[in-house]
Amino acid sequence: MKPRILVVEDETHIAQGLKYNLEAEGYKVSLVDTGTTAMKLLENDSQAYDLLILDLMLPGVSGYTICEKLRQIDQSLPILILSARSLAEDRARGFDVGANQYLNKPFDLDELLARVRNLLRLHPKRENAPKPKPLSTKVTEIQFGRASVNFETYQVTVDGRDVKLTHKELSLLRYFVENQGRVISRQELLTEVWDVSGEMQTRSVDQFLLRLRKTFEIDPANPKHFLTIRDVGYRFVPNSSEAEDSTVADH
Ligand code: CA
Repeated sequence: MKPRILVVEDETHIAQGLKYNLEAEGYKVSLVDTGTTAMKLLENDSQAYDLLILDLMLPGVSGYTICEKLRQIDQSLPILILSARSLAEDRARGFDVGANQYLNKPFDLDELLARVRNLLRLHPKRENAPKPKPLSTKVTEIQFGRASVNFETYQVTVDGRDVKLTHKELSLLRYFVENQGRVISRQELLTEVWDVSGEMQTRSVDQFLLRLRKTFEIDPANPKHFLTIRDVGYRFVPNSSEAEDSTVADH
């Protein structure tokens, strides 16, 4: 299978030149010209690519932000930044947000191709790489804290009292339970629970989280089960002693 390269570049002549030359080397190339589209593709399925060639100054989302967000969901996709920003601090920032290589524009084609070969050689074929999302296990019921939930009968009790959850709240709870212990990004919740990506406000996920906390936490302001992981998302912990031991959880 040909290595698959996603090129994010808003200057058409550079993008077309890259595509032409990379394809001539036997790579499969996808071009996108805005940061917003790139972010959507990567959040939806970063495993679809073996390498990312990324411009920094882009319409929509900047290359730095793309790197940063991508690294939260995928640590192994090699990133080559291709940018006119040539200051040492620009390069340093690029590496800080997770880039593997940084090449200045204008670039030498042979050098770019050598760097691409180098990155693809260093990073194992992504088909064999561990998937960022483990297959979730189906759970039919769970007891945690004061709550007992049966996902087949939709029966939910807290302190022995019946509680009504909406269908969406139950789906969200189920996703947390099936992925317990793992940090889950808001974007993943939107894709997996709401079946939308990108456009819908991640803030609405937060609203649902507040409702779950209100229902299940003794002190919703100091959650023991539905933890916020700062700048990343959420983590569900059924056993609260584990939450107290945790060092990554804030409030
Ligand atoms: Ca640009």
